[in-house]
Amino acid sequence: MQEVRVRFAPSPTGTLHIGGARTALFNLLFARHNQGKLILRLEDTDMERSTHESAQGIIEGLNWLGILWDEGPDIGGSYGPYRQSERLSMYQQYARQLLDNGHAYYCYCSPKDIALEREKAQNNKINYRHNCPYKHKKSAAIDAVIDGNPVLRFNMPADGVVVINDLVRGSVEFRNDLLDDIIILKSDGWPTYNFAVVVDDHCMNITHVIRAEEHLSNTPRQVHIYEALGWSLPYFAHVSMILAPDRSKLSKRHGATSVQEFRDQGYLPQALLNYLALLGWSPGDDMDILSLSQMISLFDLNNVSKSAAIYDMEKLTWMNGNYITELGIEDLFSVIEAEARSKQLLSNDNRDYFVKVISLVRSRVKTIVELFASIDYFFISPSTYDEKGAEKYFRKNDAIGKLQIVDSLLASNPFKAEQIEIAFRSKADEMGYKAADLIHPTRLALSGRTNTPGLFEIMELLGPQVCKERIESAINFLK
Ligand code: GLU
Repeated sequence: MQEVRVRFAPSPTGTLHIGGARTALFNLLFARHNQGKLILRLEDTDMERSTHESAQGIIEGLNWLGILWDEGPDIGGSYGPYRQSERLSMYQQYARQLLDNGHAYYCYCSPKDIALEREKAQNNKINYRHNCPYKHKKSAAIDAVIDGNPVLRFNMPADGVVVINDLVRGSVEFRNDLLDDIIILKSDGWPTYNFAVVVDDHCMNITHVIRAEEHLSNTPRQVHIYEALGWSLPYFAHVSMILAPDRSKLSKRHGATSVQEFRDQGYLPQALLNYLALLGWSPGDDMDILSLSQMISLFDLNNVSKSAAIYDMEKLTWMNGNYITELGIEDLFSVIEAEARSKQLLSNDNRDYFVKVISLVRSRVKTIVELFASIDYFFISPSTYDEKGAEKYFRKNDAIGKLQIVDSLLASNPFKAEQIEIAFRSKADEMGYKAADLIHPTRLALSGRTNTPGLFEIMELLGPQVCKERIESAINFLK
């Protein structure tokens, strides 16, 4: 059987959008499920809009998500180069073939001529199709295209239909008379998308083209180019759009849309990957938390939906919280390690302590941003006390006396959560207090907060010395 080869072919003109990341992921899952190859190809023929930074950002985003390819611009491979801008001679070679076979022709019409023609068609309410006066003229050598003014157009069939058997959408029919004679080489000799993509997919031996629905309408044009070059077609699978909850196009106003933004907002790559997989694909049986290897083994284009996927930030956030809580602690550590170091919460001396801290708080947060926002007091003494908490627990009911009692308990040995709790509860009993009467002011004194994980676990982690210092400084503050 032929080896499965799929590609993700972003245009490096912006950030890695979640739609693009989802397309890349489906390609990865399909490739791995079929023991095939994933190719990354940069479609950078739009010289004005393509940037090196964008390409770099896309590569970093994919790497961060764990979407890794087998051939690509950064790692090479046997079908390179993997940047379209480095493949110009191939496009020109096949353009020449189309020209020689009468499937393409030079068009010398100016953009102004075209605009007039289009306007006329609009006024007459007929479908616009360029009717080129140069179409049947024998043309000069292709070099003229490269140096000169004309563009090279593909000679689309004027009637009949193309039927595409899409692996997601089933059979889709297009009328040829609605397809224009598209430009395949611009006057500067650079190819257009529809032409370059066909040459590349063929020359890179791509077996399955899995891409966004927006390219479905380009597919009949591409099919004609394949046929004119005498090439066999790959399979096509067009994956539905991702829409906002109100079914409008997903945009900035719906919050984060690029992978980098999700990363900055504290989403874990594992959670985002898992969430993206479920946008349009259903693995069945209400399964939602899936590792990459589970996704690979279950992935099937037959279970990818034709209808638009609705993006649900709440579900993603829920899933993220779930991953933060359930991920192996070392995996979580490695995702946040660099940030923890740059925030100076982690050094070579306190790794064990840091891991204990995140183990204690992780089930209470939904994002990494929240995680970092909730651990400051494990590393530095609180500089202020929560205002409402101070009102409630410090300024009433002899807080000083209570903190002094707690101070006297700190000698309890060993300084373990369980023992500290026993000491607290029996002391409270003895004094005729509720345990909470001692717990609340202590929590505030140690963390500056009213809402934290269990006090006794926090105390065990901070250790008796730090607890003592903080209790005493709260007492001083109250005095
Ligand atoms: N470069 C195209 C895009 O970013 C992808 C085209 C394709 O997958 O055929 O939309």
